[in-house]
This record gives sequence, C-alpha cells and structure tokens, in this order.
Amino acid sequence: MNEIVKKAEETHHLTKEEIISLLETTEFDQEIFDAADRVRHEYVGDDVHLRGLIEFSNICKQNCKYCGLRRENSNVDRYKIDKEQVVLLAEAARDFGYKTVVLQSGESNLYSLEDMIYIIKEIKKLGLALTLSIGEKTTEEYRAYREAGADRYLLRIETTDKDLYAQLDPGMSFENRVRCLRDLKELDYEVGTGSMVGLPGQTVESIADDILFFQDIDADMIGIGPFIPNPDTPLKEAAGGTFNFTRKVVAIVRLLLPYINIPATTAMEAIDPNGRILTLKSGANVVMPNVTDNIHKKEYLLYPGKICLNDEPSKCIGCISGKIKSIGRTVSSHAGMSKNKSKISKA
Ligand code: SAH
Ligand code: SF4
Repeated sequence: MNEIVKKAEETHHLTKEEIISLLETTEFDQEIFDAADRVRHEYVGDDVHLRGLIEFSNICKQNCKYCGLRRENSNVDRYKIDKEQVVLLAEAARDFGYKTVVLQSGESNLYSLEDMIYIIKEIKKLGLALTLSIGEKTTEEYRAYREAGADRYLLRIETTDKDLYAQLDPGMSFENRVRCLRDLKELDYEVGTGSMVGLPGQTVESIADDILFFQDIDADMIGIGPFIPNPDTPLKEAAGGTFNFTRKVVAIVRLLLPYINIPATTAMEAIDPNGRILTLKSGANVVMPNVTDNIHKKEYLLYPGKICLNDEPSKCIGCISGKIKSIGRTVSSHAGMSKNKSKISKA
C-alpha cells in the first residue's frame, strides 16, 4: 500500500506536500477510495443520513461568476416562497420520513429577521433538525437564528485561493466569509463548509490548502462538488471539474477529517449517472434529496444538468433508499448530528 495513503488512514494527518502528491497522480486513486471507505465505516458507521433540501428562493444579490443564480443572470424566473409555504414544505418532508431539512436560497434580505425566526421556530416545532444555507449574514443574525433553534449552517468557502476568490466572487470578501465560519463555530452551530473542484485557475496546491483549511476550522461537515460551467454565466467556456478527481478530493477529506459528515453531492450525480453511490463508497455518509416542489425546483439552477427535475419529491426517498441499501448501507433513522464535536464515539 502507498505509504502516504497508509499514513493518512492511520494518523489522519498529512502535510501539504503529501496531499499534493496524492492529487498529482491517479496511480493510487483506488487505494485512496478504499481507505476512505474503511475510515468512514470505522468512524461514522454504515448509516446514510438523508437531508431534505428546500430551495426556498432563487433571488440573489451576489454575482458569483460560476453560479446560475447570480444577479446579472436575467434568464431566471425569480421566486420567493412564502414563509408559511416553506414550513409546509418542511412538514411534507417530515411526513416523507426526513429527520433534517436544509433551507437553501440565494443571498438576499427579502426575508426579514422576523420571517426567518418564524420559519425556524415553526420547523423546529415539527421535531426536525434544521440546517440553514442562506449565505453571509451578520454575527447578530447568526445568533438570532441559532437562538430560534437552527442546528447547522452550510457556507462553503468555495476556494481558499484568495486571488481566485477575489476573481470569482466580485464584491465579496474572503475575510468576511472566514469571519462568518468562525462566528458560526463560536455560536455552536454544526458548521458545514466546502469547495468546488475544477474552478478555472485552481491549482492542486490550492486544493491541498482547502483541505488543510477544513481541518483548521474544525468543520463538522464538508460538501465538495465539481464546478459545472453554467451557460448563463461568464464561466460558460470553462472546462469544469471531473468526476474522478473530485471523488478523490472527497476521499482525502474523509481520511483527514474522520468524524465529520460528508454528503455525496447532487453535483457529483449531475456529471456521473452513478455519482452519489460511488461517492458514498469512498468516504461520504450523507445524501441531500430535493424536496422543493417541481415548479420552483426547475428555476433553481446553480449549474446545468440538475438531477431529478421531473421526479416528485415524495418518490425521492424511496428511490435513493433503494440505492443505499443495494450497496449494503442503511438509511439512518435519526438526525445524524455530527460526531465531530465529541470525537469519541467511533461507530
Ligand atoms: N447562496 C448560498 C447558498 C446557495 S449556493 C451560498 O452561496 O452560500 C450553494 C452552492 O452551490 C455554492 O456554495 C457553490 O459551491 C455551489 N455552486 C454554485 N454554482 C455552481 C456551479 N456552477 N457548479 C457547481 N456548484 C456550484
Ligand atoms: Fe448567490 Fe450563492 Fe449563487 Fe453566489 S453561489 S450567486 S451567493 S446563490
């Protein structure tokens, strides 16, 4: 077995140079996938946690160059689902069997703090774990959501290459994004972050830095997906991330952060028909099926090739559960809170 893979599996620590050497060759990919699968089994077990994703608004004030929801994209029918309707979608998700819902949207101030607190409190009354993914907010807002009952927050750093970040996220600041993540950690959220793989100009050095950043910030969840060029954005001509390389980045993340939750992201399945299952077999332990109604789901296009656009949300849980069981894994019957905080309970 390759010595670096062995070291990663045994110690969960690698130097930047060691990570780069794994990223630079495909020679050890299968060994990396298998080692990540063993570490996943040992630390977080065979359960796969399902999170129902509600895309409650596609209105965004930001202009990220990679994203279909960027404000300068006029080819989008913008929507904002009423706060009562958001709660009804969460209730439907609970009735389908989900234990967690994730509320995701573009970044905007269209929902007042009171609206968000209403939504959070009503969803918590349903007995669900609640994740928010609504972008950069003030410390006070994050505190108010947490006090209202929000359990987790997802905010990808996207890339730790500051020059690349400045280029791809005009008008935004890398420092503020890190401030947000540190605030969320301080407020005792389960903190999810992550990155895209295959961004134009991204190097293996910066991907190694991304992985070390995830360790440094002590993330509880890491979501990684390929960058998929969107024809309605300035990056439409870019090459995009490849499946195997992105899968390897996910696997290395599992080796180095053994206790965390790692989703097999929808973007992985958008570029490979078996993408989520293969990712579950190399480190991941979470899947986030979409429970947004079919009308709105079609207008929430971060990237092209979004999966299950015509499938009824009520059917998704059966479909993905069947696939999960077919690889000998179990669908979790609980909320799957992060084991990262205690770091004691190996599965
Ligand atoms: N507005 C919030 C949440 C919605 S965007 C935020 O930005 O945090 C959710 C994620 O979609 C982003 O973090 C980004 O990593 C991903 N994304 C956006 N455009 C993408 C693309 N073209 N390919 C792959 N992932 C993309
Ligand atoms: Fe808006 Fe998020 Fe897309 Fe950036 S990535 S344009 S913040 S929805």
